[in-house]
Amino acid sequence: MTSLLQAQTPTRETFWLIGPIGEAVFYYLAVVTVLVFGALAYRRFARYTDGTDDPFDRLDALPKRIVSAAKIVGSNEKQFNRDFVGGLMHSFILWGFLTLLIGTTILMIDMDFYRKITAAMGTEQSFFEGAFYLSYSFVMDAMGLLFVVGLGVALYRRYVTRNERLWGRHTSAEDGYLVWMLFLLGVGGYLVEGVRILASGFPDFETVSFVGWFVADVFGLVGVTESMATTIYPLAWWSHALLAFVFIASIPLAKPFHMISSFANVVTRDEKAGIRLPGVPEDASPDEIGASDIEDFSWKQLLDHDACTKCGRCSSVCPAKASGRPLDPRDVILDLREYRKELDAGRTESKPIIADGGTSVIDSSTMDSCMACMACMDACPVEIEHVTQFTEMNRRLTESGQMTETVQEAMMNVFQNGNTFGDPERKRPDWVDDLDFEVPDAREEPVEYLWYVGDYPSYDERNQEVAKSLATILEAADVSYGILYDDEQNDGNDIRRVGEEGLYEMLVEDNVAQFEDCEFESIVCTDPHSFNTFTNEYPEFGWNEDGEIDVYHYTQLVQELVPQLGLTGSELDYTVTYHDPCHLGRFNDEYEAPRELVRQTGCELHEMPRNRANSYCCGGGGGGLWMDLEEETKPSEERLREALEDTDAGAEIETFVVACPMCMTMYEDGRKTGGFEDDIEIVGLSELLAEAVTADTMVADD
Ligand code: SF4
Ligand code: SF4
Repeated sequence: MTSLLQAQTPTRETFWLIGPIGEAVFYYLAVVTVLVFGALAYRRFARYTDGTDDPFDRLDALPKRIVSAAKIVGSNEKQFNRDFVGGLMHSFILWGFLTLLIGTTILMIDMDFYRKITAAMGTEQSFFEGAFYLSYSFVMDAMGLLFVVGLGVALYRRYVTRNERLWGRHTSAEDGYLVWMLFLLGVGGYLVEGVRILASGFPDFETVSFVGWFVADVFGLVGVTESMATTIYPLAWWSHALLAFVFIASIPLAKPFHMISSFANVVTRDEKAGIRLPGVPEDASPDEIGASDIEDFSWKQLLDHDACTKCGRCSSVCPAKASGRPLDPRDVILDLREYRKELDAGRTESKPIIADGGTSVIDSSTMDSCMACMACMDACPVEIEHVTQFTEMNRRLTESGQMTETVQEAMMNVFQNGNTFGDPERKRPDWVDDLDFEVPDAREEPVEYLWYVGDYPSYDERNQEVAKSLATILEAADVSYGILYDDEQNDGNDIRRVGEEGLYEMLVEDNVAQFEDCEFESIVCTDPHSFNTFTNEYPEFGWNEDGEIDVYHYTQLVQELVPQLGLTGSELDYTVTYHDPCHLGRFNDEYEAPRELVRQTGCELHEMPRNRANSYCCGGGGGGLWMDLEEETKPSEERLREALEDTDAGAEIETFVVACPMCMTMYEDGRKTGGFEDDIEIVGLSELLAEAVTADTMVADD
């Protein structure tokens, strides 16, 4: 036996008191563990090949993808979002775990390679001594402490404060298993270290292992002697080693697998997931459109299911769930995962993925509830792409004629009249008759800006005011612009999101043909939904692939035109808040142009707690505008309450500014049904700007 007391240089013997037989058994078990882990992990990854090909290239520029994923995962940026303690906790666990893993690997390199190679060359050497050993021991102790603290917080949040989002329909023993196993491994490591330090007589240099030293002190205080520690040490060492082997071998079987699957999911993410939806293969028969069986999901979507950590962040931000609609995005992902597991184990019969009436894995009412707002995807720390999967299920519902009646009606209206209102095409430009100037016809003359007005600003009475205001601004800025009059058709963004891909493709074809018949340099959209699909999806159909035509949301263009509008920044004095539309903000990252414009009018702008990427959907996206859903609280009412009660600095908001026609419709409705009519006005940003511009003109006239 080598006593560490006598060691001249700071170091420790790796298999101290374990003996050569123990060492051989350890290596044997380590090999078995690695083989079991490898076989189980291979089985899980092999299962993904049963999925369909993914329409996007997920493995291009792999080294770049890995570096970028490492940054996302390593920074824990998504975990910090809306939950600072959760972010800190996860950072401690992740970085503590990685340090311990790297430390163990370094030890293995010294023990199994460096020493053996140097011994073969004549003199056995080890770098696990002296200054290296001291710094190694200090770093391992410090990071291990963070690891244990992080796990302690995780246990506290799960079992003491019972953080609501951690508990759900799919919470099971595996969730506790992960946290408890890691906690026991972390604490166990310190116990073994404490026993070792005590058994080796507290060598001075071991003070660098300050946690282990403290544990050894505590053992000493409660009466554990050096010889008792020497007896206990092999037992403690083996318990710790065996626990580690069990944990490693079981990683692919349960939640610990997320350590691998989640990282793989982040590596293979699609930056534009949900923003641009995948198309349907040209040769797909009606039966093959959408998801009928679990294998109809792509390999990446199957990986998505396995990557879910059940953290509940998606569900906690989902407006459909909050309003009492029958949708919980986490449950949908986990229902699909559970179904696949049960099916593979022969514990369930094959059934349709989605249908009416409770006979399927997912009920159709769940998908009807989704607003395609992307809040779930924005919140998900492991980049699960809910919306693309939900679209696959919506496509199946559509193909099998299981759409709700009101959506069916909207689709029929679009098919027959090119708009969701079902009004004749010739009435589309009627709103221009109220203006005291001519709106140029882009079909008749070349223009710089082709203004795509959109369905709601064209046909909906309230939104026609938004269109008239924007026309007033464009006139005031004296730019060259024009509209398509009755040749404009629905942009298709939301048609696509309810799953009507065929109709969407028809609209793309018609709109593109119309665009190609006109001469213009840029397109400006009133509606962020049009802006999204023109920017991100039409190019997939061959239009503007090279990005030569600039596509603007009107707030972006007007921001450029401000110098021509002659605003002084003091025209208006309302106290306002601004609601970020999902399709402009979360989808397309435009948060500042609208805010800048509000300030240019002189209004005092205050923020709601949920702003920018954390904005809360009005409830109209994903076809919500066309549905009559049962809700406990409408998202629009909840949002208006937030504006009135929670805005920063307790500001008394009198005006709720929107930059999306659909939001206008939803909030005008919520204002009535929620009883807010006397409290707040809903104003389109173009209306606010037109008021400011007109106020200037009137002053100039005076
Ligand atoms: S897209 Fe929006 S509504 Fe749909 S599941 Fe995600 S958060 Fe909920
Ligand atoms: S889908 Fe993402 S956000 Fe939702 S529970 Fe799973 S890991 Fe968390």
